[in-house]
Amino acid sequence: MQHSPHVMMVGDGAEQFAKEQGLDIVDPSYFYTKERWQGLQKARALDSLATQLDHDEQSSIPEVYKDYKYGTVGAVAVDRAGNLAAATSTGGMTNKRYGRVGDAPITGAGNYADNKTVAVSCTGWGEFFIRAVAAYDVAARIQYGGATLKEAAEATIKKVEDLGGDGGLIAINQQGEVAMPFNTAGMYRGTIKADGTVDIQIYK
Ligand code: ASP
Repeated sequence: MQHSPHVMMVGDGAEQFAKEQGLDIVDPSYFYTKERWQGLQKARALDSLATQLDHDEQSSIPEVYKDYKYGTVGAVAVDRAGNLAAATSTGGMTNKRYGRVGDAPITGAGNYADNKTVAVSCTGWGEFFIRAVAAYDVAARIQYGGATLKEAAEATIKKVEDLGGDGGLIAINQQGEVAMPFNTAGMYRGTIKADGTVDIQIYK
């Protein structure tokens, strides 16, 4: 982020830049997990073109894997100076096409933070979060529409749903208010405050 003027780099160029910056480079086999490999084979056997999300009811991910709920991880935070930050990490969808880009790395789609409004991290069917420009949509509703954090976050998930998508998001503002709406059966989520108070939830 600090060592080039760019916002986004991909593929070979990104790899080259990472090497130049002295980042640890590992063999692709480092990222192999048996569960994911089996999930992919199962999905392919069902339908070579069908994609699946971790939270899909009919997901091909083995039960044992679901129990650990590894998958997309998002975090949003506000520090004592009022700086907002958002992060999203995902493996994307099982059986996606080679070259498919999801919402997570796209600023404004799966992830967005602006001290003036809100920090947002999304999870779900990325294609719809991209179409809805979901993370930025939350900020725009607050900044231009005068919505509260809760109203904005819920309206954005409704927008994703109306387009045919599903998923959820987590959002926080400078006041430390939090909204975590979703339209799936559940979304593993939690908050921690400066005094250490923890709140963890799964279903609605
Ligand atoms: N949003 C991610 C993607 O579409 C997947 C997920 O959140 O589970 O790549």
